[in-house]
Amino acid sequence: MRKLIIAGNWKMYKGLEDAKSFAREVAPIAKGMDTTNVVPILAPAYPFLAVLQRDLEGSPVKVSAQDVSSHPDGAFTGEVSAAMLASLKLPYSIVGHSERRAYHAETNAIVREKLLALMQHDICPILCVGETLVQRDAGNTKDVVVDQLSGALHKINLYNQGEIIIAYEPVWAIGTGRNATGEQAQEVHAIIRKWLKDKYSETLANGISILYGGSVKPENIDELLAMPDIDGGLIGGASLKPDSYLRMLESAVKRANGEQ
Ligand code: PEP
Repeated sequence: MRKLIIAGNWKMYKGLEDAKSFAREVAPIAKGMDTTNVVPILAPAYPFLAVLQRDLEGSPVKVSAQDVSSHPDGAFTGEVSAAMLASLKLPYSIVGHSERRAYHAETNAIVREKLLALMQHDICPILCVGETLVQRDAGNTKDVVVDQLSGALHKINLYNQGEIIIAYEPVWAIGTGRNATGEQAQEVHAIIRKWLKDKYSETLANGISILYGGSVKPENIDELLAMPDIDGGLIGGASLKPDSYLRMLESAVKRANGEQ
């Protein structure tokens, strides 16, 4: 059975003290929840990865990077390699977020290099895909998402290259307060699952968690988690406050445990 994942993407928010007080508040409460079938994740900015890992130790909350370099090492000022993330024993990293694609010109080919770098170091990538509003309105959602998937996973054999999580994040829903409805998201999640099945196998496709991201909040998470192919959320704004993050985690725990 796929676990539900509640992943908070803090982007370039939260300094050291804020990150530490979040961990202090969330760790004991998350520890008291039955998270057997749920994986809580938080993705702070690079400087706070190790601190957050230390402060969340003993709780079920895992730490993720928000990005990784496509290069193994070298003269790449400001970049952080997969080997460096692996030296922290980091289990996850987001890759291909639409903000990276839009503001840092990340192509599918670059995203693929980053994916490979993470996989080589046994870090599970959280691969983001999603269409813009113009692309959706032009009826191109499926083509865009499939193009991003096939570009990023080109010649990558998931059978022996390890775990991956996919996050469907329609760009028009990120940070806008306008989320996709459960049905809208489910339609694309089903397309992604089918694509994975056709490229790999039904067993592999059924084992991959597909998260929805884009204005997820405590008020809409239940509707989204009720969908058969939505296995959790990648959440920006609503993951910044402990109370809001914990409410979404609680929703996932209830759903995973068949309580709603
Ligand atoms: C995100 O950061 O990936 C995201 C989906 O942001 P928000 O939840 O704020 O829309």
